Amino acid sequence: MTNAGMTDDENTNGESGSKAAGGGNHTLYMIASIVLAFVVAWLAPHFAASLEVGGEVFLRLLTMVVVPLVMASVMSGILGLGDVRRLGKPGAAAVGYYLMTTVLAVTIGVIVVNVFQPGVGVNAEQMLAASDTETVDALADSDEHPKGIGDIFKNLLLMLFTDNLLGSMVDTQLLPLIVFSIVFAGMLTTMGERAQLLSTLVTGINDALLSFVMLLMKFAPIGIFCLVTSKFGEAFAQGTFVEQLNQLFWYVVTVLTGLGIHALIVLPFILWFFTRRNPYEFIRQMSDALLTAFSTASSSATLPVTMECAEKKAGVSKRSTEFVLPLGATINMDGTALYEAAAAIFIAQIHSATHPDFAFGMTEQIVIAVTATLAAIGAAGIPEAGLVTMLIVLNAVGLPVHYLPLILPVDWFLDRFRTATNTFGDSVGAAVVDQTFPKDAETTSLPDVVSVA
Ligand code: ASP
Repeated sequence: MTNAGMTDDENTNGESGSKAAGGGNHTLYMIASIVLAFVVAWLAPHFAASLEVGGEVFLRLLTMVVVPLVMASVMSGILGLGDVRRLGKPGAAAVGYYLMTTVLAVTIGVIVVNVFQPGVGVNAEQMLAASDTETVDALADSDEHPKGIGDIFKNLLLMLFTDNLLGSMVDTQLLPLIVFSIVFAGMLTTMGERAQLLSTLVTGINDALLSFVMLLMKFAPIGIFCLVTSKFGEAFAQGTFVEQLNQLFWYVVTVLTGLGIHALIVLPFILWFFTRRNPYEFIRQMSDALLTAFSTASSSATLPVTMECAEKKAGVSKRSTEFVLPLGATINMDGTALYEAAAAIFIAQIHSATHPDFAFGMTEQIVIAVTATLAAIGAAGIPEAGLVTMLIVLNAVGLPVHYLPLILPVDWFLDRFRTATNTFGDSVGAAVVDQTFPKDAETTSLPDVVSVA
């Protein structure tokens, strides 16, 4: 691995690249540990559930790095560009990419759920009687969820800003930290010599944190084994998971088909179209990040691994990963958007069966599509965040939230697939946006010249 704290380019980008986290074998170990995790959870669910602490340690170690890494990498990205104004074109391209892929994902979600019609014929009353209503009551009671589209926009805008920088760090609210880092590093680029020390410090911290992530990834097979086996063990130990999967079979198939189309056809096509890269090779290069996303169900916790894979294995330039991935992990959630649209329409199909007066036509489907897009942008990159922001979508078309317990039992399971899709969407975004950076703006670990604007 690289020498933590070393700042010369060769050391960060060169020698370590091929050895990142142990190469191809490492990915095989990760896949094997997920397979083994299922088997152990199936055969010895109580033992598997007791391994939760191992998973929690791994998760904490990853999450611990997120805030400093996001701040240091965004700052280091801007410092590498030398002038914040050079972010204009890539910035617009990134936002355009996020929006385009989210809208595509939602559209796929709406289409698959209309084709499969998983909500038709579901016996909601019987399933609701046996479900966990407490969690949903708690969700519905919190009056934090916005009511109308105006409210949603207001909240999204406010999410960009904080009145307490330290508070945002404590709560891992990445968006205001990204905004601050862009502005702060932008200021540094105007300060000439006086900023040299701080710039060296920031880029040094960034390199050291990435080295730490590489070290952490050596333990990933054990970490993800514990995470996956304890979660599935817990589900199998309760004894109802297989039955719940059966009851919601078509719903699960619908969501997984939608995610599969988006992640394995649409995103690869976009990647090939804009970069002429081989998409399936790219999936292989990003596989450690995708497996970590599946295991942690958190795209924020996965972010350090995503950055490491994109830069060291997929060869996406630092200038792009440092900026596109942190922002993407926060606002670009294709899997979540697709899921929210599909789940809301699934609930609408169930509700319509017993409430013939409930109007559910084209307009409502469009309202669901729009609010699902906004809800996904607003969702945090943490486990099952999509379920919380789904209240916005249900409210927007007047669907009662008491149907949420129906999908709750399988939400944690689907969450893993949508998180992997979210992470893959961000990675493709980093490769696509990479093309739009000014050609001479190579991010080095330490900018030689800090421009004076
Ligand atoms: N768990 C997802 C993520 O971290 C968010 C969600 O859909 O619940 O990306």
